[in-house]
Amino acid sequence: MTHPSYILEATYLIASCLFVMGLKSLSHPDTARRGMIMAAAGMLAALLGTLFHPDIHNYLWIAVGLVVGSSIGIPMAMVPMTAMPQRTALSHAFGALAASLVGIAEYVIHGNSMGGVKMGALGLEVMLGSLTVTGSLIAAAKLQEFMRGTPIQFKGQHFVNLAIGLGMVTCFVLWVMDPGAANANIYFFTLVGLSFLFGVMLVIPIGAADMPVVMSLLNSYAGLSSAATGFVLGNNVLIIAGTLDGFSGFILSILMCKAMNRSITNVLFGGFGAVVGTDTGGVGGTMREVTVDDVAVQLAYANQVVFVPGYGMATAQAQHACRELGNLLEERGVAVKYAIHPVAGRMPGHMNVLLAEANVPYSSLWEMDQINPEMPQTDVAVVIGANDVVNPDARDNPKSLIAGMPIIEVDKAKSVVVLKRGKGKGFSGLENPLFFKSVTGMLYGDAKSSLVNLAQAVQKV
Ligand code: NAP
Repeated sequence: MTHPSYILEATYLIASCLFVMGLKSLSHPDTARRGMIMAAAGMLAALLGTLFHPDIHNYLWIAVGLVVGSSIGIPMAMVPMTAMPQRTALSHAFGALAASLVGIAEYVIHGNSMGGVKMGALGLEVMLGSLTVTGSLIAAAKLQEFMRGTPIQFKGQHFVNLAIGLGMVTCFVLWVMDPGAANANIYFFTLVGLSFLFGVMLVIPIGAADMPVVMSLLNSYAGLSSAATGFVLGNNVLIIAGTLDGFSGFILSILMCKAMNRSITNVLFGGFGAVVGTDTGGVGGTMREVTVDDVAVQLAYANQVVFVPGYGMATAQAQHACRELGNLLEERGVAVKYAIHPVAGRMPGHMNVLLAEANVPYSSLWEMDQINPEMPQTDVAVVIGANDVVNPDARDNPKSLIAGMPIIEVDKAKSVVVLKRGKGKGFSGLENPLFFKSVTGMLYGDAKSSLVNLAQAVQKV
């Protein structure tokens, strides 16, 4: 091995180890920050190692890429946490575009002189990469509300999608079987075009609460496309990182489906939310408004209080105010618990991250399955900007569009206080019967101000 190759392989080995250890550390909140640092260090090692690649003779375009990439990446890293899903979708789109372009370039440069296995990997790379580019762009546009967030469906949609899918497979097979054929270029570029189209068609019928699942599926496709790039380029670190990314994304999709009691096929072909709002389970009545002083008395004299944060806590950035109120109650001898629903907020682990930022100890966080049996003994459940994840229709109304999605059963607590600004619906667009129950009091206002006011009022009790 020559000197630069030796350095290259050593840095790739270090990078791969850092990726594996980083991913392992991400599986627990206590070690997640360290995991992110390890993964970032791994990426830096892989980048620096690649600079020693013997095929690189001119660093000009690399420098240009570095400047362009950094000037896009740095502002993207600064988006607020609530915009993280669309930012992640854009990252998938860029990553997949890179994989797809590398595949196209390799084919244009080497043509059919590559072996059959390489051709197959290249075909998969451009197919998965291209559909991930457009799919992720559509997902980002939906999440950023640049286009309608609910599913877009039309008659015969499944048939059209099936036809495009079959077209892709046919082009792929014809191209790989006879790469020297006169029509090989036509098959290849038709495959690329159909893949871009398929990405759009795959994501437009998906919406509402299914978006997180489709995002992690796209993450998985982007990873697998990178792994295929690794096979084409003979690059070990790409194979390892892409495979880790691809399979962790796939496992995450399955876990999220489980958390929402949905099947992957249902997510991809069900068109959830297409008729949002047509079955409200007969929700109606009046909502009972409560005042800060009433709630403060309830909280101050409670034995057990459970905070149930949701997306509204993130938009209000109310995690510190929540922690301060929790501390005050604990000082008074109240048992305070924080209930975490797996899809609360807008990204997996969203609530864990926010509460960790406010230094809520990990031991005070209770998973949905652990906290639900505690609800009947809970004096006050304080819902902080959560809606879908506490919607009892998911449990009680089999016709509801979120029927079967596990919820945090706050309605079983002795008393519920909901902190929200008004009558806004949750991500799914459904009405929530919890707000009309006699056990529930609505404390209107921005979650952060309500929590700050509650903390002041508790101190006066
Ligand atoms: P949600 O159902 O989206 O409801 C959030 C509620 O917060 C709204 O009803 C809104 O009502 C209130 N709110 C917004 N800003 C507020 C503020 N500043 N102060 C107080 N309240 C505020 O939230 P969720 O219960 O956390 O459920 C998450 C939903 O997002 C699920 O449907 C899930 O499937 C979906 N999703 C999850 C992920 C993920 O990975 N976690 C990703 C994408 C989508 P007002 O307007 O009346 O204030």
